[in-house]
Amino acid sequence: MPKQLLAATSNRHKLVELRAILKPCRIGCLGPDDVGGIPDVEETGTTFEANAIRKATAVAAATGYTVFADDSGLEVLALGGEPGVYSARYAGADASDAERCQLLLERLATHTDRRARFVCVVAVAAPDGLIGTADGEVRGTIAEAPRGTSGFGYDPVFVPDGFDGTFAELSAGEKDRISHRGNALKTAVAAGLFDIQ
Ligand code: IMP
Repeated sequence: MPKQLLAATSNRHKLVELRAILKPCRIGCLGPDDVGGIPDVEETGTTFEANAIRKATAVAAATGYTVFADDSGLEVLALGGEPGVYSARYAGADASDAERCQLLLERLATHTDRRARFVCVVAVAAPDGLIGTADGEVRGTIAEAPRGTSGFGYDPVFVPDGFDGTFAELSAGEKDRISHRGNALKTAVAAGLFDIQ
């Protein structure tokens, strides 16, 4: 029987990507709705790793499942790594993805260096504590204007190296193959972090 882990995320876009990436590895991915909900864990850490560990360990302890959490974000070189761990809250907690992209483009308007990277840290935890972490990245540049309709977050303004289109213009399969999330999960699988039960 395939393994089943609980993903500690209420971001339905992330859940779709996590499920698609793990399926070929025969790792099933439950979401919060499959287990009657998960506690809301505040992201008070100052690093992706600290937040991923915090989410995975708290949700595993509360639910009794083996849990994995993804903490991720966009780092823009000319902005000193902004928005970084604050990617989800950039432009304020109530801002839309489109408003966050717009703020980023405004802050980058006077810069010629548009290099950026997406970063993802995956933490896996059992109810009695952390099993391990793995990270992944994808490098690229920030587009002059949003393009494309698929994906979520900063996808419309991120052009991965080696491609002409933004993440929001690539197919889901293409994004998953090269993304920070895909790379972090591949590393986690290779490191045996999901070798449970
Ligand atoms: P968190 O990991 O839930 O703290 O939020 C990560 C935030 O980073 C998301 O809300 C997005 O704004 C951004 N982000 C992370 N991964 C992606 C991605 O694959 N595409 C676009 N934006 C992303």
